[in-house]
Amino acid sequence: MQQSVMKAWWDSSHMAGGNATYIEEMYEAFLDDSQSVSDEWRDIFEKLPKLDGVEVETKHSLVRDQFRHLAALGPASRVSSAQSTASGSDEKQVKVLQLINAFRFRGHQHANLDPLGLWKQPRVRDLELSHHNLSEKDFDTTFNLGSYAIGKESMPLGELFDSLNRTYCGSIGTEYMHITDTDQKRWLQHRIESVQAKPEVAREDKINLLKGLVAADGMEKYLGAKFPGAKRFSLEGGDSLVPMLKALISHAGSNGTKEVVVGMAHRGRINTLVNVLGKNPSVLFDEFSGKHDDSLGAGDVKYHAGYSSDFATPGGNLHLALAFNPSHLEIVNPVVIGSVRARLDRRGCSDGSLVLPITIHGDAAIAGQGVVQETFNMSQTRGFQVGGTVRIVINNQVGFTTSKTEDARSTQYCTDIAKMVQAPIFHVNSDDPEAVLFVTRLALDYRNQFKRDVVIDLVCYRRHGHNEADEPNATQPIMYQKIKIHPVPRKIYADQLIAEGVIEAHEVKKLVSDYRAALDHGACVVEEWRPMTEHSVDWSPFLGHDWDVNYDSSISVDQIKELGEKLCTFPADYTLQSRVAKLYKDRVSMINGEKALDWGMAENLAYADIVTRGSNIRMTGQDSGRGTFFHRHAVLHNQTDGSDYIPLANMNDDQGKMEIYDSVLSEAAVVAFEYGYATAEPGTLTIWEAQFGDFANGAQVVIDQFLSSGEAKWGRLCGLTLLLPHGYEGQGPEHSSARLERFLQMCADHNWQVCVPSTPAQVFNMLRRQACRPLRKPLIVMSPKSLLRHPLAVSSIEELAEGVFHNVIDEIDDIVSNKVKRVVMCSGKVYYDLLEQRRKNEQTDVAIIRVEQLYPFPQAEFGQIMSKFKHVKDWVWCQEEPQNQGAWYCSQHHFRTALPRAATLTYAGRNASASPAVGYISVHNQQQKDLVDDALTIK
Ligand code: AMP
Repeated sequence: MQQSVMKAWWDSSHMAGGNATYIEEMYEAFLDDSQSVSDEWRDIFEKLPKLDGVEVETKHSLVRDQFRHLAALGPASRVSSAQSTASGSDEKQVKVLQLINAFRFRGHQHANLDPLGLWKQPRVRDLELSHHNLSEKDFDTTFNLGSYAIGKESMPLGELFDSLNRTYCGSIGTEYMHITDTDQKRWLQHRIESVQAKPEVAREDKINLLKGLVAADGMEKYLGAKFPGAKRFSLEGGDSLVPMLKALISHAGSNGTKEVVVGMAHRGRINTLVNVLGKNPSVLFDEFSGKHDDSLGAGDVKYHAGYSSDFATPGGNLHLALAFNPSHLEIVNPVVIGSVRARLDRRGCSDGSLVLPITIHGDAAIAGQGVVQETFNMSQTRGFQVGGTVRIVINNQVGFTTSKTEDARSTQYCTDIAKMVQAPIFHVNSDDPEAVLFVTRLALDYRNQFKRDVVIDLVCYRRHGHNEADEPNATQPIMYQKIKIHPVPRKIYADQLIAEGVIEAHEVKKLVSDYRAALDHGACVVEEWRPMTEHSVDWSPFLGHDWDVNYDSSISVDQIKELGEKLCTFPADYTLQSRVAKLYKDRVSMINGEKALDWGMAENLAYADIVTRGSNIRMTGQDSGRGTFFHRHAVLHNQTDGSDYIPLANMNDDQGKMEIYDSVLSEAAVVAFEYGYATAEPGTLTIWEAQFGDFANGAQVVIDQFLSSGEAKWGRLCGLTLLLPHGYEGQGPEHSSARLERFLQMCADHNWQVCVPSTPAQVFNMLRRQACRPLRKPLIVMSPKSLLRHPLAVSSIEELAEGVFHNVIDEIDDIVSNKVKRVVMCSGKVYYDLLEQRRKNEQTDVAIIRVEQLYPFPQAEFGQIMSKFKHVKDWVWCQEEPQNQGAWYCSQHHFRTALPRAATLTYAGRNASASPAVGYISVHNQQQKDLVDDALTIK
């Protein structure tokens, strides 16, 4: 077998992962006795290259050099084996290696993880000596240790067995053998085995751990006494989270991290806000007493609040941000990761080293919520990777009232989902803060070294019910009997340190009383807290404007032509697919004035203008490079070598960044990510495009909980743009409607803009407006499908150069206004159906007005156009959607207020329907004809 073939086989082999040690053993066995392995394996091993014609065995070390994986597998070389193993015990030697392997794989199943001691852990036979034909009689025999990284080549079995139990079955249960990359596994083994998972802990660290526990416990006790019965979603039972987070942030700072963004649900959040982020306790107490900050509009409950501060670390100050969070569990995590990506982009850091995401999960939620899988799936992709996330599970073993295993999940651990990306998982008993500290630093080092996600499962308990008013005994009686008598983590650790002579009892008492006094005093209790100076973006230019704020977006015909020329330039040796080549040829004709501009060209020109002005664009969606409907082609694919080229990223040297990614096939996590990105970066036009508009349903939680209401609840601006293909073209119930009515129903307080542009010039200026204005509001666009190629939906360069988005478009045909008897108002594609039919009918008594921005309703512009038709009493709203959908119910109050006093407003459209559209094309066509006729027929 050729080396390359062997390596390729090895890289892709299932044997390369968790079963690697098995091969190590087999290879060693083969070297001893080639007949001791199966024919198939003998065949493989014999085909290992015989360098310079020398026999395999004598060239073992060379072979290892050639095949790093095998090299990593086989430190138990024949030489050391001959020197140090007991004579005649080769078979036992193999068994000892298997025993080591068993502990690496399954030691976590015997680990002491549950602080309450309630877990019923079945005995794992692989961890018993007898399973490997070994016994205590072999304890004094010295065996080679293979790759066991304790810093020795050999050890008596008795010592080894102790060491394995200490390393893999103590307060830490490590799962990493599912990782296929040998370097990662060896790295982890070295870090864990070399200190037997229990390194020396410096006195300073011990004191800091204790202080963290004192603070965590003190905070909850204080709130419990001062505000009895108030909901605070106490951390009690998971107290280690506080010293853990502080150690994690501090370690990150020491390693050069400049920003940390944290996402967490309600459990322990108040404690984290005060004891980690340094929120002023007096502000918190005011909130408990019912006082609030009026600047945040509608506001939110205190256990959803975000916070920003700086934090001093040995590596300098870093910026800390806790993301605002709704009650929907887990959805904040992609938001946090999107925010981190924006910060990394701003800092020009592509490897994740400068900004760290920390996501904190609940045990029931991480196993139960699908967005967790979506987020893991994104973690290594081009458009969404951030160099790994440290994920912490506050595993209190119960989800509200649902017990751990039998009802909450179908896997042994709540963290099993993380194995899909081969993340290492450290289960740790939260009553052992030193073990928590060890895995915390290890996890961060792993993330920084390998740029991948890592999970810490902080196994703890919940001292009270889901909230403080709950009665947990009702549903978990045995657990809560145990909790009642279980000492708090602070006491357990303080007793340990007193016993070790690290601290004296009176000093512990003083720590507790000092903390309580600090709370009484009401000032910040986090020594490392620093006022905010380290965050790198200024939102003030975007504050305090309404949607109709003035902005300069003027552009000349020549400028558009120049942009168009650059847009159509790509490397000379690029071979485009024939349809794409034709499309680009057409684009050149459009710029030369030989053809009218279509939608795809106008949209690309908008992006070209935006990046040329120095703003950035980030666009994602399942097919955003090409466009679902083959209209965008912002990413070119060379037919000869498959390479990509993005003209928009090559406009000029000092342009803004143009990033466009086809996304993972998810809506919830991707839209949440983009929301996070847009709320952290006002300088980037952030766009998510749905493959079909109705797929936005998959992101409904993000749309409801963040996009529509984030500014009202939390004062967080967001300029995210959603492009949602929408239009009734007979494609059936699934691909007709982007559910416009849902977006309109959520409109209030000018929370976002809902637009239905109907021409290329309109999309050009709508997108430019979104980027140019000193305003960051979400933009919901009903974007077209058939209009992309509709012969009437074209614009001239001059129309683009008008530079403004028209919120309402007046009648365009030669209709004399005082002859008009009916005005039809509409939005979107139906306009062209109405126009064509009216032209066919040669009607002059009906005017058609397009409302291009449904919300905020453009009263002033509408009023101007309406003034020409003041005499008209018959006004009609025409829509393609069924009556209970579209704009009719949600926008008619705006239309009515804007109409002449004596006017009547009637409806022309489909009848109300449970389904968005019919499935039969003939029925669709008839309905479409009827609604157009209905709109144009004056009774
Ligand atoms: P952060 O970097 O997220 O901690 O934000 C730092 C500060 O910037 C916050 O305290 C806010 O004052 C401001 N800020 C951050 N994001 C936004 C936003 N989306 N809208 C308005 N202000 C923001």
